[in-house]
Amino acid sequence: MLKQLYQLQLIETKERHELEKQQKSNEFQQLRKVKADFTHQKDSYLQLEQEIAALDEQLASFPAQMAELEEKISAENAAIYDGSVVNAKELAAREAQIAALTEKLHELQSLESLYVGEREQKKGAAGEIKKQMAHDYQEFNSLKVQVQQMQAEAKERLEEMEQQKKELEAAIPADELAWYESVKNKCGGTPVAMLNADHVCSGCHTIVPPITFKRTSMGQQTICENCGRTLFVEE
Ligand SMILES: [Zn+2]
Repeated sequence: MLKQLYQLQLIETKERHELEKQQKSNEFQQLRKVKADFTHQKDSYLQLEQEIAALDEQLASFPAQMAELEEKISAENAAIYDGSVVNAKELAAREAQIAALTEKLHELQSLESLYVGEREQKKGAAGEIKKQMAHDYQEFNSLKVQVQQMQAEAKERLEEMEQQKKELEAAIPADELAWYESVKNKCGGTPVAMLNADHVCSGCHTIVPPITFKRTSMGQQTICENCGRTLFVEE
């Protein structure tokens, strides 16, 4: 019966390899990488969009602020020339006010052109990211098709193994199966090992003592002293 459990173990090992192969495949790794890049780009793009919107909002308020300053400047100028200024002190005060307002206006103008430049730069960067995203999206889709194809093929192989396992399990007594289930996570998923004619353990590839080989071939329950696997002799 150990021979059948050993065959079951072989199929389970193959199953594990099949699943690992999928995870380790280049296409799968690349797919994950492209997906991660895409997510990262999307975040950067959204961040830029937010910054552009904030600049838009600030720039939108500039014309009104400038108009207000210009209006104040003209009012001061008008006061100087309409004869309402009565002395030199008031004239100086009004001129100082005009100078301060004009400076403020210039500050606002240079800030405006700074913001406009910044917005253009951000729009350019966002455009580049969008192009890259479109490219990555295409790559993602073509990789996805390849991975899906691989998964479909693997699924077929796994289903076939599942069928083989069912057939084997049906032929193994319940208590033996229960024992196997209870130990199958030991020894890296391979708790049963076969001894060949040269007395070599299939689990750890060492030679067992002659007494172990003899007892095993007589049908006694034995384990490999080196790796701890339960042994049977190849027929
Ligand atoms: Zn061994």
